[in-house]
Amino acid sequence: MLTSVPGTNDVFAQSKEYPFREPVFRYITQTAEQVLRSSGAQMIHTPIFEYAEVLQKGVGVTSDIVVKKEMYTFEDRGGRVLGLRPEPTASIVRAYNQHGMKVWPQPVRLFTWGPIFRAERHQKGRYKQFHQVDYEALGSADPLVDAEAIALMVQIYRALGLKGLEVKLGSVGDPEDRVRYNDYLRGLFRPYAQGLSEDSRVRLESNPMRILDSKSETDQRIVAEVGVRPMLEFLGLEARSFHESVAGYLEKLGVPFTVDPSIVRGLDYYVRTAWEVHHSRIGAKSALGGGGRYDGLSEMLGGPRVPGVGWGIGIERVAIALEQEGVEIPADPAPDLYLVPLDEAAKLEALQIAQRLRPAFRVEMAYAPKSPRKGLEEALKREARFVGLLGEAERARGVVTLKHLETGDQREVSWEALGEALGPVPGVRL
Ligand code: AMP
Repeated sequence: MLTSVPGTNDVFAQSKEYPFREPVFRYITQTAEQVLRSSGAQMIHTPIFEYAEVLQKGVGVTSDIVVKKEMYTFEDRGGRVLGLRPEPTASIVRAYNQHGMKVWPQPVRLFTWGPIFRAERHQKGRYKQFHQVDYEALGSADPLVDAEAIALMVQIYRALGLKGLEVKLGSVGDPEDRVRYNDYLRGLFRPYAQGLSEDSRVRLESNPMRILDSKSETDQRIVAEVGVRPMLEFLGLEARSFHESVAGYLEKLGVPFTVDPSIVRGLDYYVRTAWEVHHSRIGAKSALGGGGRYDGLSEMLGGPRVPGVGWGIGIERVAIALEQEGVEIPADPAPDLYLVPLDEAAKLEALQIAQRLRPAFRVEMAYAPKSPRKGLEEALKREARFVGLLGEAERARGVVTLKHLETGDQREVSWEALGEALGPVPGVRL
């Protein structure tokens, strides 16, 4: 029997693994959609594959995704190199440029959700295909837009019912601040180069900031040992005042956060605001989501200068947090009517009735003839409101025997009158 690729998952209602239950996914994505739509953000669907160049430039050549070859790339039949998206921001900025959104009222605020692909070694909470809700606000360099992005993210977590959250706000400064910080880090880590992981020896030259959030334990030991001064101490005047504005707005919006001077997350083109949202029970290395500002990205993709800020929420991680907090996920509604054919001929009749009543009512049916007793049992198991029996006697009179399962009331109802009998209100008495 062929199976799925390790690190990828089937998402369906009865999945034994909680993060991959479809109702949980739906709860997360619908809640996020509701919050984001209420803010006027618009949904966008971009392709899950792009020219690899778009995606590589989107994350930057020194990012982990490129350095550790986490992007899935392949050649199409025309010999073009394509990639599966390792994050959605580059695609959305590419779409913004391609469709001339710069002439729209700014900022253009877009969101999406869908699969993301990273060739990582899979482990709990880390998969090769996972899913994100993603929000991007493009075309404004106002710190208010950063604060709104963070506030919306927190609003989604709250609407989901999550409590143990911590927003860690930092800043990666302006590009010139980072040059100074990287020089400082190179000086600091060079004497330890031999002890660093192979990836971090590459990072030491290309982007030493990445050493700080390396997942390697030996790297982390060295980072702890050398006593690194945080990025926040290296901010220039403008980046500092921008950071203080974002923090001030968040306070006034009542969004709880802590300033984390050591946050260095993000892609190569991140500037200024960077943040992560952690969950008390999932552990420090497992963020529920994160975001940042990336004012230089559009130009990297050959477009005009378009400042932008955005975030990604890991759907599986949020699902794990919901389970750990015991948040109850709304159950799928039970059927209004469960139709039971009592003989072969009634199968098609049941389907005809079902199709007439759908989608106004939730109607399910048995697909093989049953005894009335068995049919009733199945209807009860599904917690249907009504069971409808269809046999020879019913056929002769053009009716269905309709029984309300809670009250036990039973009567014959003509096919035409069924909709009315099911009633607009659940629990209506016959
Ligand atoms: P990133 O784009 O790396 O900042 O990731 C944003 C969020 O997506 C993280 O905070 C996680 O919640 C989630 N995430 C990132 N990588 C993975 C992965 N391999 N498997 C599952 N979730 C992930």
